[in-house]
Amino acid sequence: MVSATSLQEDTALDWEAIFATRSGRMRASEIRELLKLLEQPDIISFAGGIPDPALFPKEAFREAYASVLADGSAGAALQYSTSEGFPALRDWVMGQMTALGVACRPDNILITSGSQQALDYLGKLLLSPGDTALVTWPTYLGALQAFNAYEPRYDQLTPMHGNRTPAAYREAAEKAGGQVKFAYLTPDFANPTGETLDKAARERVLDLAEELDIVVIEDTAYQSLRYDGTAVPSMLALDVVRHGDIDATRTISCGSFSKTLSPGLRMGWICAAAPVIRKLVLMKQASDLHSPTINQMAMHHVAEHAFPDQVEKIRGAYRHRRDRMLAALGRHMPDGVSWTRPEGGMFIWVTLPERLDGAELLARAIETARIAFVPGRAFHADGTGANTIRLSFSLAGDEAIDQGIERLGKVIRESL
Ligand code: PMP
Repeated sequence: MVSATSLQEDTALDWEAIFATRSGRMRASEIRELLKLLEQPDIISFAGGIPDPALFPKEAFREAYASVLADGSAGAALQYSTSEGFPALRDWVMGQMTALGVACRPDNILITSGSQQALDYLGKLLLSPGDTALVTWPTYLGALQAFNAYEPRYDQLTPMHGNRTPAAYREAAEKAGGQVKFAYLTPDFANPTGETLDKAARERVLDLAEELDIVVIEDTAYQSLRYDGTAVPSMLALDVVRHGDIDATRTISCGSFSKTLSPGLRMGWICAAAPVIRKLVLMKQASDLHSPTINQMAMHHVAEHAFPDQVEKIRGAYRHRRDRMLAALGRHMPDGVSWTRPEGGMFIWVTLPERLDGAELLARAIETARIAFVPGRAFHADGTGANTIRLSFSLAGDEAIDQGIERLGKVIRESL
């Protein structure tokens, strides 16, 4: 008798041969697989870098949706709307950007479905197959996934220590059959390292971009989550200082409401020179017409009524968790292990002794210590970084942090 499985195997199409080449680099991420572990109650997870739902401004959203669905506005809330975004929300973003040193107009803002959609659109807008994207090793995994669909080659930015010469980047890109198109970076409290670029490093990237005549994509997903230290002007703000007007800049800034108000509404924005926004509006139209009207209206309501208090509240909570995790790491990590001390965001980046492999350590940690984290290799476009891991402190309570880091120290010591 033929089993159902073998019948399936015999008759299944060779999908890989049918799919477009651009799908070849789309693979399940280690992080998505790991998120499933959060459902097991006895696991202490430092894996998913997501906001704590206990901190969401729930009452503000309840009020917002009730107000948006009230008689006067329900028709508009449930209707199609413009691809650029809900005007009042664009105005709110414009106000925020202006306060951060980026004087702009509504035609410099596009509302997107999360900043993840912004990264996808920018890959689509800027990358032809074989072009080069400059990223740090490590960088945000979701950015690599978004860009991968457009078949780029990656080259390494090292903004902290000075980058390579423009000629070196250009020659390597041409040798690979394309051009350098952009530098992508998260200057504040990066995912995965938690690190922040100082002003000199930001200026160096702008210098390089000017010499190569490329775009800078600035990801500001964690910018509002500063717990101490002094804010550094954004790359776009520095670019506006250089050129006097946003429409003369080359920096495209991607922002998000996910880490401050709610990731579930999928709401972000792009702020850039008007010609870039005009093109992206056409892309948005062709892709999903516009982000959900009702969510944009509700987000605007909450941003207007609750943003500063909400940011204050989550900063306090996450600052405490960061401090708790840093203290626990100090107590429990063996010699030879080092880690970052982020001034904000959600992540601490741990470097293990060279001979340890983060993925192997994770397997052992889950089995013997019931703790989870993210191995660092996936964040490296060149496949290095095997001896690194990412810890997120955003979801963990005091006891979980103390116990989890103690167990992590034990697993590392046993693996040495
Ligand atoms: N950029 C960075 C650096 C992130 O960490 C994330 C989410 N983890 C995103 C962008 C995407 O966020 P969203 O689409 O929810 O705005």
